[in-house]
Amino acid sequence: MPESRWFNSSRGARFNPGWERTRKMILERDSHRCQRWVTDWRTGGRRKCWLPANEVDHIHRAENGEPDDDSPENLEALCSYHHKQKTARESGDARIKKRRRREVESWYSHPAYRTSA
Ligand SMILES: [Zn+2]
Repeated sequence: MPESRWFNSSRGARFNPGWERTRKMILERDSHRCQRWVTDWRTGGRRKCWLPANEVDHIHRAENGEPDDDSPENLEALCSYHHKQKTARESGDARIKKRRRREVESWYSHPAYRTSA
């Protein structure tokens, strides 16, 4: 039922109440390893980054202030390097990203995210 998303999440809110649980679930699903595809510089082959991951990120971000899709298919574990890289790129491209960067910063200053350094 698509309505429940609107019912449960206020527009633009970065936290949903189940996020911490979802985050743990995704990390476990992905074996706490970064799922980003990278090119191996020696072989030229594609492989997963596979560094220890402590971040969970949206594969496709919602646009125009819509709530992000927090379903497992849209989430992947990332190492801190790839997560920073993705966040930097996402915040680089439009006016709304300026606002989003502030949101992301306040999101990551949340005490829940200070446990993993
Ligand atoms: Zn990585």
